[in-house]
Amino acid sequence: MTARPDSQPLTLAPWLDGGYRHIWMPYTQMQTAPEPEAVTATQGTRISLADGRELIDGVASWWSACHGYNHPHIRDAVARQLSQMPHVMLAGLANEPAFTLAERLAALAPGGLERVFFSESGSVSVEIAMKMAVQYWLNQGRPERAKFVCFTGAYHGDTIAAMAVGDPEDGIMGRFQGLMGEQFRLDLPRDGDTRARFELFLADRAPECAAVILEPLVQGAGGMIFHSPETLKAVSKACDAHGLLLILDEIMTGLGRLGTMFACEQAGVAPDIMTLSKSLTGGTLPLAATIAGGDVFEAFLSDGLDDAFMHGPTFTGNALACAAANASLDLFETEPRLAQVKAIEAHLTAALEPCRGAAGPWGAVKDVRVRGAVGVVEMDKIEDMNGLRARFTAEGCWIRPFGNIVYLMPAFTIGEDDLTRLTDCVVKVVGGG
Ligand SMILES: *Cc1c(COP(=O)(O)O)cnc(C)c1O
Repeated sequence: MTARPDSQPLTLAPWLDGGYRHIWMPYTQMQTAPEPEAVTATQGTRISLADGRELIDGVASWWSACHGYNHPHIRDAVARQLSQMPHVMLAGLANEPAFTLAERLAALAPGGLERVFFSESGSVSVEIAMKMAVQYWLNQGRPERAKFVCFTGAYHGDTIAAMAVGDPEDGIMGRFQGLMGEQFRLDLPRDGDTRARFELFLADRAPECAAVILEPLVQGAGGMIFHSPETLKAVSKACDAHGLLLILDEIMTGLGRLGTMFACEQAGVAPDIMTLSKSLTGGTLPLAATIAGGDVFEAFLSDGLDDAFMHGPTFTGNALACAAANASLDLFETEPRLAQVKAIEAHLTAALEPCRGAAGPWGAVKDVRVRGAVGVVEMDKIEDMNGLRARFTAEGCWIRPFGNIVYLMPAFTIGEDDLTRLTDCVVKVVGGG
């Protein structure tokens, strides 16, 4: 790792400064944020910068690049598809990558999940799941069942309806309260107390509700909050008892991140509707899937268009993205992804433990926890977010803390050396080094 010498110009990428005056970056206070690093290439678990430095990627590009960057199998599949047919509309026309992917996802998904609706982002796949749930009841003459039960600490995306089932406590989403439909937000039924309140609520209000929506086992962007398979089971049982649909948002947890293909497998629970995105294409192209059970799908069948699901993003079933997703699924079959996640879990568990009790200039550590390839160091509060991020970058690691959370979610293919450098870096920086 070479630090950027003071004598070098700040940017060696001619497009950076010009573009920075016009681009609007995500989740960024444009007035105070430092200029972003200019990336020229990615390979494996490394990010190459224009000034010659290289960063070890600890977050796999927002948890999506599960096979590392530039895996030749995905690259080749996308190149082949690109030369043949990048896109053709899905209404009335079929393309092989989308149809093959639908069949494969249905075979892979738990329980009776069998109908796949494609979109281009996780948030939209959540909106689709919510629309499906409401129309499921509408089609059965139950228009009053239109509300959702969601949980403290949840994150389901940035679009309006997805925000409404997230936890707006962080203040950012709370500002849109007026725009969003009011939903029911409860504490997860983790113990006797919260379970009793959950039961009491459902006994009273379930007839107004279409579905319960939850990220199984790990609530991600809401703060990397873990819950047990028993909690997930309790939610699933309550849904059955009160006739509610269960939507599991596996956008972060699905496709191996927690050591099983889907997190809900660990609780022996199958939802009525599941959402997938993030690592669906191995982090190469935007794609999301909303997968519905046969019972849900059947409620949309009739001889009139009124009952049909009226939704269709322009790029739904995009052949290029679906080809990437098929190639990504191939890799789960041909390379030992789940075993790699287990090894990462063991490494993170041992290597992050020294953070427990640490108190450096960035704040005091409140908790250290690991599940699958998710390693979390929770701080009381992060004092200087921009400073902390810059500190990690200076150490040669791409680690993006948010809220009060420092976390690692690397590619499943990360080597022992790179993983050690990431965990060493977290231990050192959090400890004040
Ligand atoms: C990232 C995420 C989303 C939103 O996905 P986008 O592709 O960013 O719209 C929804 N739910 C969960 C659990 C996520 O982690």
